[in-house]
Amino acid sequence: MELLTKLQSRLDVLEERSLIRKRRTVDSPTGPRLTVDGREVLCFSSNDYLSLASHPRVMAALQEGVALYGAGSGASHLISGHSRAHAQLEERLAEFVGTHIASARALYFCTGYMANLAVLTGLAAGDKDTEFFSESLNHASLIDGARLSRTTIKVYGHADVEALAGLLAASTAANKIVVTDSVFSMDGDLAPLPALLALCEQHGAWLVVDDAHGFGTLGENGRGALEHFNLRSPCLVYMGTLGKAAGVGGAFVAAHEVVIETLIQTARPYIFTTAAPPALAHALLTSVDIIAGEEGRARRANVQSLVKQLRTGLRLERWQHMPSDTAVQPIIIGENPETMRAAAALYAQGLWVGGIRPPTVPQGTSRLRVTLAAGHTAAEVDQLIAALNALERTSHER
Ligand SMILES: *Cc1c(COP(=O)(O)O)cnc(C)c1O
Repeated sequence: MELLTKLQSRLDVLEERSLIRKRRTVDSPTGPRLTVDGREVLCFSSNDYLSLASHPRVMAALQEGVALYGAGSGASHLISGHSRAHAQLEERLAEFVGTHIASARALYFCTGYMANLAVLTGLAAGDKDTEFFSESLNHASLIDGARLSRTTIKVYGHADVEALAGLLAASTAANKIVVTDSVFSMDGDLAPLPALLALCEQHGAWLVVDDAHGFGTLGENGRGALEHFNLRSPCLVYMGTLGKAAGVGGAFVAAHEVVIETLIQTARPYIFTTAAPPALAHALLTSVDIIAGEEGRARRANVQSLVKQLRTGLRLERWQHMPSDTAVQPIIIGENPETMRAAAALYAQGLWVGGIRPPTVPQGTSRLRVTLAAGHTAAEVDQLIAALNALERTSHER
């Protein structure tokens, strides 16, 4: 029982620092409005940016996928779990983002977390000639992937292109790989991808782009950050997730066919896990169609207009509304207790906004992470604006 005592004391420390996380159980479909404990709440904390998770066509496609392929895949991709739906989705995605990467193939993964572990270990596993250059605000899965690959990792500061240039110039590694989020998940700002890619080309380095929050939401056709910045290079490795804007689940990597074949042959997070249910891949074919078409464009335009509405409507003095043009609109409060009190006060008014604390964000930068989605109405965003403006004025009076 000594272990239990030790675990309990660690939990007690989290409690003292206002770092205990609580899960709420949702009883309705995922969407802008949720039912929780028998009450309707407005959800401003999900990554379902285009509100596709409860789109009737996507839901119908998922049901059709179950009828066609059954409930589960039954095995890993390299045994018997690779279905026609997985193959079709990979072809569709390769064609969709392939305009930005020469000789691209795409590979579907169960989760983005696993895709990032696979990419970084697959590109570098134990190789002494490889060095990673990792942006300081990168997602945990990129950090873990770099650690798991047992190579040297150099961290450069947030959006600090000059610092990266210095590190690349000083490196003697044969293979240099720069790794970055495209849209920073807790800040909402964009990495300076054109400058990063130019540096990579200058130094013969590769660029791994994690577009978890960009795929579906950025670019004229929703192809993501590469389309937004109009980037093209054979030395790009692109990771997009499919459980956020695409509304279903899983992720994909698009890269040169030799990179993809390497992942299929060697990446443990690809090989040693049961393939995701084929029905998910089947539903995702419909998600990608919606993203690529007129409806996707209209949904992205709606998100953009809600972002403008929020940015012009908020009148904050002590709290800091981060500069962001994406659906991720963080408001930095600072300390954990005030952040969690604010989140609780909003929730009491039926507004679910996530309170984000360390280690997800650096110490002292706890924040409300507001996310907007295509399915929100202007009236709902007005309600959020009024609540936040009023709350900031009263929250320090305690
Ligand atoms: C969500 C996220 C991931 C992980 O993707 P999952 O499919 O949720 O596992 C990876 N990178 C970033 C930046 C993310 O926000």
